[in-house]
Amino acid sequence: MYLLACLSALFVPVMGDEKEAGLHFESIKDRPLKLRHFLATMPKGGDLHSHLSGAIYAESYLAWAAEDDKCINLSNLALTPGPCDASEDLKPVKDFYPGGPQDVDDLLVRVVDALSVRDYNLRGLSGHQQFFSTFSRFYQASAGRLGDMLAEVTGRAAQQNIGYLELMHSPGMIAASVEAERESDITKPYGERVSHSALRLIAEKAMLEIDEMEKGRSLLQSCQIRNEAKTGCRVTVRYLAQVIRTWKPEQVYAQTLLAFMLMEMDERVVGLNFVAPEDHPVSLRDYSTHMKFIQELSAEFKDSNQNIALHAGELTLGLVPPEYLGWHIRDAIEIAGAKRIGHGIDISYDPQMFATLAKMRQSDVAVEINLTSNEVILGVSGENHPISIYLEEDVPITISTDDEGVSRIDLTNEYLRAVRTYDLDYKTVKGISRNALQYSFLDGAALFQNPKNGVLATACSAGLPEDLSEASPCAAFISNNEKATKQWELEKSFDAFEDPF
Ligand SMILES: [Zn+2]
Repeated sequence: MYLLACLSALFVPVMGDEKEAGLHFESIKDRPLKLRHFLATMPKGGDLHSHLSGAIYAESYLAWAAEDDKCINLSNLALTPGPCDASEDLKPVKDFYPGGPQDVDDLLVRVVDALSVRDYNLRGLSGHQQFFSTFSRFYQASAGRLGDMLAEVTGRAAQQNIGYLELMHSPGMIAASVEAERESDITKPYGERVSHSALRLIAEKAMLEIDEMEKGRSLLQSCQIRNEAKTGCRVTVRYLAQVIRTWKPEQVYAQTLLAFMLMEMDERVVGLNFVAPEDHPVSLRDYSTHMKFIQELSAEFKDSNQNIALHAGELTLGLVPPEYLGWHIRDAIEIAGAKRIGHGIDISYDPQMFATLAKMRQSDVAVEINLTSNEVILGVSGENHPISIYLEEDVPITISTDDEGVSRIDLTNEYLRAVRTYDLDYKTVKGISRNALQYSFLDGAALFQNPKNGVLATACSAGLPEDLSEASPCAAFISNNEKATKQWELEKSFDAFEDPF
């Protein structure tokens, strides 16, 4: 009895409200519109897999391009800086966006389609081709607009009750690649392959770029003005330095080194990720080399954080030759030390699948699931998606958007899709929401020993405090750990959300 009493004190008890919320959830599961509303208002811990530039909707890029006197290139529908020389097929964006009441013409429709995957299946392109072709088209519209971009994504997150975003962003990555082109030799010993002092300068500039971006967001959302602050201000943001994996090995090396420097120098950069198509011939050829870069740099930077998240296994049969399937996830974990896997689609091609899954479960390696993205880019959906395997094998998962602007979705839509397709119950969905903070790279210890079962950290065995100013070991523990603080806030939000049921 005593042991049972002690054990039960470690759990967040299943309150009547949670049970009632779960019953209501079951009653609306077949009503997509009611379910959408429920999931939009339900607190969602965070989005751990969101590329900042891909999170912006085409209309925002067009509005900024119009204000900034930028142009559309009529031959490839890419946004370009001004001046707009008609002889070079360049047309001012402000001539057609937003346009007058009679002006919603063919060009505007074609441009929004070109900057996203809207109606891609009506065109003669695969989702994969269309998806990856959008980034170079809107890239120029992002120049000078990073603050606006941050305001857009945090505003959208706040509307959906999302408390945290871990955004993938590439500050300084082009400069690092240019530096590698200027001088580098990756056959030399560590420290001599590329100029560390040049990369440190690039890292310092990248930090200033983040300062500017955050200042811009704060101004746009009036975050410093009491009573005027927009709800987006409440959303906590951290960054993952994203390394572009399709470039030359020396450039990828320089970017990876820059990512480690940024993690060491700037506490807002909490981790790194490798991005761009994993099925690109260069990504495939260099995959093992890239994993070794990360392994070696982790050892060199062992005193700073070691938060590695990697797109791994974003592959399927037919997209690449079979030899490339079934080992990227394992290598990401075993060689590069990845704590989170992005996508994880090709797990069933791993000849040691159950051993890999067991390792993920035991080492607490989470998988970031991106359902819409996987359907559009890889054509993988429904029962062919491995989300059910991860759930069955008790591997922690999070639900994320990947590129909500390009895909024209939001995080609520991805939760809705998961519930409708895989018949998830409320407890599972709540656990997934909690996972987004538990497996985040926020600083400090986590509130849960096991978020799935609601087992709290030892300091909180007597239960969660109502107020963090309370004199209790749990309140002190939460206050001293940023991650636990965000998690405590999420639990409070769930209490308020479930109360009316
Ligand atoms: Zn991604």
